[in-house]
Amino acid sequence: MRYIEPHAHMVSRVTDDYAAMVTAGCRAVCEPAFWAGFDRSSARGFYDYFCQLTEYEPRRAAQFGLPHYSWLCLNPKEAENLALAEEVLALIPSFLDRPNVLGIGEIGLNKNSRNEVAIFEKHVELAVQHGQMILIHTPHLEDKWKGTRLTIDILKRHPGVNPGRVIIDHVEEHTVELVLEAGFWAGITLYPQSKCTPARAIDMVEIYGTQRVWLNSACDWGNSDPLAVPKTAIEMKRRGHGENTIDRLIYQNPLQFLSQNPKFRLD
Ligand SMILES: [Zn+2]
Repeated sequence: MRYIEPHAHMVSRVTDDYAAMVTAGCRAVCEPAFWAGFDRSSARGFYDYFCQLTEYEPRRAAQFGLPHYSWLCLNPKEAENLALAEEVLALIPSFLDRPNVLGIGEIGLNKNSRNEVAIFEKHVELAVQHGQMILIHTPHLEDKWKGTRLTIDILKRHPGVNPGRVIIDHVEEHTVELVLEAGFWAGITLYPQSKCTPARAIDMVEIYGTQRVWLNSACDWGNSDPLAVPKTAIEMKRRGHGENTIDRLIYQNPLQFLSQNPKFRLD
């Protein structure tokens, strides 16, 4: 089996997780910027985090022969502090040329608040200005349908956004169709509790197909599983899906989307 883990918060994982992922067939890992489990107290905290995502974590992954890529942003949970958000937004452009940075993410909405919308729009503008791809987080604890609808409306209003270069992640049964019909890519996050279980993910793939869909584990500091993608592949095989379908979903699809940025290369 070969697969790409397109959304994993490796800074919160131990090195054994890298070893297990590579053993299971992982060929590349991508790490979007996110909340640290606590609110950072200043823009310098974000500066250090962006260095971690673009310097230290790629080095840690390289010890296992695993290419590591990252996405940068201020996450929606910290968007309520508008002054801090502005400072962090100003930091991002100087990191965009780093060799492992694929785009802006994971941006989006958490509680669908007015400030979150304002900062989301600024991130979208930043991505368009710099020709960056976009990775989007959709809410778990608040109304996901409403947050996804709002997200799509904002993206559709911007003439510079190409939906084929945007992935909307954490889709569920009631949002996946909305995302795919609007021309975006859809990410299904496999998570023991919130988000989506392997069985539900496979049900969705059986209904909506594998086109413009990827699977990811998110694997953060919460109750999550860095091997959720290969484990779901095993479950797909058990349910009668062929090798080609599985390979398309867990390897070729993320490869196709991510390769839109020429920095993403698998040797
Ligand atoms: Zn995430």
